[in-house]
Amino acid sequence: MIIAIDGPSGAGKSTLGKMLAKKLDLLYLDTGAMYRAVALRVVRQKIDLKNNEQVAGAAEAARIELTGEPDSLQIVLDGSDVSAEIRTLDIAQAASIVSTNSNVRRVMVDHQRQIGQSAAKGCVLEGRDIGSVVFPNADIKFFLTAKPEARARRRFEEDKAKGRISTYEQTLAEINERDERDVSREDSPLTIADDAVVIDTSELDLSEVFAQMLSAVRVAKGERPDSGDEPNVHRVLFVI
Ligand code: C5P
Repeated sequence: MIIAIDGPSGAGKSTLGKMLAKKLDLLYLDTGAMYRAVALRVVRQKIDLKNNEQVAGAAEAARIELTGEPDSLQIVLDGSDVSAEIRTLDIAQAASIVSTNSNVRRVMVDHQRQIGQSAAKGCVLEGRDIGSVVFPNADIKFFLTAKPEARARRRFEEDKAKGRISTYEQTLAEINERDERDVSREDSPLTIADDAVVIDTSELDLSEVFAQMLSAVRVAKGERPDSGDEPNVHRVLFVI
């Protein structure tokens, strides 16, 4: 089973994707982490982010692996763990820029398809182009969204909890800039697939969104939407 989750930054894709993967015993693939790993490689090699050829070369040569359980996922780049390093604001911006490069996207999409197809029980993939490009025939597609203010608020609270210094206004500006680039790029822009289940998470509790997603998955599997147990989470903050 392939579950696609797309949407802008801060809509809750990672948290909910991990929860679904755990609940359904599927592999979890954070495709944004792969673009971040390419960006880190480019930055480390001091390549100009706008030099398409060199950036594509860095993506082609990169060895990117994602290992471990959803909650303790490790991003390994060329043999070393870069899970923490790829989470900085600078790398987020750099990832947003390198992901406009079509050759980078081609390499990442191939890799993502391979991982998804070889997952024994199936895979939950989250990103921006999963339902539209990577797995257009996914069993179920979600598009999670939320008002920019709600997404920035969550991201800001998460950054604060991790000790990162920024203001709410900076976070909002950063999110808006990346979203704008994702929506307006030529290759695989962020878009809502026709057959996606769209959920606006602005006003919803995490457990409510999770329950909606689980029901939709069960329907896609031909099961009763309310079969099984309730989600075992309560009022957890979004961690993205
Ligand atoms: O999801 P995350 O914020 O970690 O992704 C980092 C960047 O990678 C995004 O801002 C987006 O530009 C890019 N991305 C993408 N396609 C994906 C996943 C992420 O273009 N499938």
